[in-house]
Amino acid sequence: MATFDWQHCYQPLLEELANNGHNPWADTLRGQLRRRFDENPHGDIARWMDALGQLPDIDHPTVRFDASAITLGSNAPLTRAQHAQLESGLLGLMPWRKGPFDFFGTYVDTEWRSDWKWDRVAPYLADLRGRRILDVGCGSGYHCWRMLGDDAARVIGIDPGLLFLFQFLSVKRYTPDAPADLLPVRMEDLPSGLEAFDTTFSMGVLYHRRSPLDHLLELKGTLRRGGQLVLETLVVDGPEGYSLMPEDRYGQMRNVWFLPSCDTLLRWLDRTGFRNARVVDVTDTTTDEQRRTDWMRFNSLEDFLDPDDPGKTIEGYPGPKRATVIAEKP
Ligand code: SAH
Repeated sequence: MATFDWQHCYQPLLEELANNGHNPWADTLRGQLRRRFDENPHGDIARWMDALGQLPDIDHPTVRFDASAITLGSNAPLTRAQHAQLESGLLGLMPWRKGPFDFFGTYVDTEWRSDWKWDRVAPYLADLRGRRILDVGCGSGYHCWRMLGDDAARVIGIDPGLLFLFQFLSVKRYTPDAPADLLPVRMEDLPSGLEAFDTTFSMGVLYHRRSPLDHLLELKGTLRRGGQLVLETLVVDGPEGYSLMPEDRYGQMRNVWFLPSCDTLLRWLDRTGFRNARVVDVTDTTTDEQRRTDWMRFNSLEDFLDPDDPGKTIEGYPGPKRATVIAEKP
């Protein structure tokens, strides 16, 4: 049984940051983690810790990060007791939104086929081998594991959602030495101008930012010179200069601010000082990619579209379409 203790969990990363000249970041982070876990803990945290603690110990687990499901395996079949602990732990960490995962033969079919997004993005990335990577708004960390599958040297994911952290830890607990960590902080909480990463991903975050240009500038600040930005966000059809700001919700989502056209997005990247911004993929999000499953039993995309016209959201806006843009920091 593993128990969660944030100091223990993050000590290696805090030391690594300090050893790499990021002392100020390590100090800021320690304070943020203390506030998050000790001073102002989330109401569900005890339950999630308990669920994580139920996951069984497995002798010499194997991991596979380069397949569509993040896969944990075991040389020997699980005992009935181990299997029961596993199910109970994983069920306690529902809803599972970003994945899929295969935990020793238990397939966690997540709301999103996040592997489809990876397949769309991966062909266009600068080779991840040996790179230091930041994944902003990483969710459960599914793509962070895929980055290790492509031999990244170091991956740091950030996402304020604490359930996502516990889902991430449910994998990490079986591969504690993997060079991936998830920090429960927002982009705005990182020290500005870190210039510490070779590649920074921001997928599914930009439209949640009230100030998208500031988000782009923050992302630029995380990169070393020549580093690569991978930006994935909702877009709409329209000319350069056009962007949609929903009146209130978009596809039932709150906190959706700007949905630019692709050309507008390229202009934003240009104006914020990125170089060679190019759209590498545009894909409509379908109810095959985002849907209700046994592991996410709430409403999903199907319920957020107009029943009479699935090309529109329930509010009457154009249905979800996502673009991936790649650009470099000069
Ligand atoms: N990147 C994943 C998850 C996208 S969902 C993917 O593409 O599949 C968007 C995520 O962004 C959510 O998990 C949400 O918690 C996170 N998020 C929202 N605002 C954020 C912010 N200001 N900083 C960092 N993450 C943020």
